[in-house]
Amino acid sequence: MVVYFQQTVSKLFLLSDPMFLSKIPQACGMRLQRLDQILNYLEISPSQKQHDGFTQTVDHTGIVIQPCPLEAGMFSVAEWLYDIKINIWTESDNEKVQVRLGSKTNNFEINLVKLENGGLIFITDANYFNGLLRCKNYQKGCLVRMKSKKQLEKHNAKCKTLHEVS
Ligand SMILES: [Zn+2]
Repeated sequence: MVVYFQQTVSKLFLLSDPMFLSKIPQACGMRLQRLDQILNYLEISPSQKQHDGFTQTVDHTGIVIQPCPLEAGMFSVAEWLYDIKINIWTESDNEKVQVRLGSKTNNFEINLVKLENGGLIFITDANYFNGLLRCKNYQKGCLVRMKSKKQLEKHNAKCKTLHEVS
């Protein structure tokens, strides 16, 4: 096993996964990455459906699904199996952009942040979305959200819809 190091002001962490070398949003406190970890955390019931690509077993820890559909990038399959809606976000200092819109038919939302290195991590804190301002072109498909009004004004000034560009 490879071990990575991360130093903060007061602590040195030993990390088993290079994912943790990326900056992780505070809202992802539980650091859940695997679909089964997330389902168990949310106390979602095992799926009654079958999919050839994934094997679900249930043990004392809850659901175990192999391989992990999130790692495999099979988001639609995961949504179908567990009646969930998987949204994916990217985050930089000033903006959060939704890069995947989850299933329109399922209401139970699972929000993930895509880290700089491509890893996905579950947003445990619902406050993550508080006070985010939407782009004026939201209805036309721009999914950018900003923390401050000033930043949003800057974005709005240069945001063009496909219609305006062509
Ligand atoms: Zn925009």
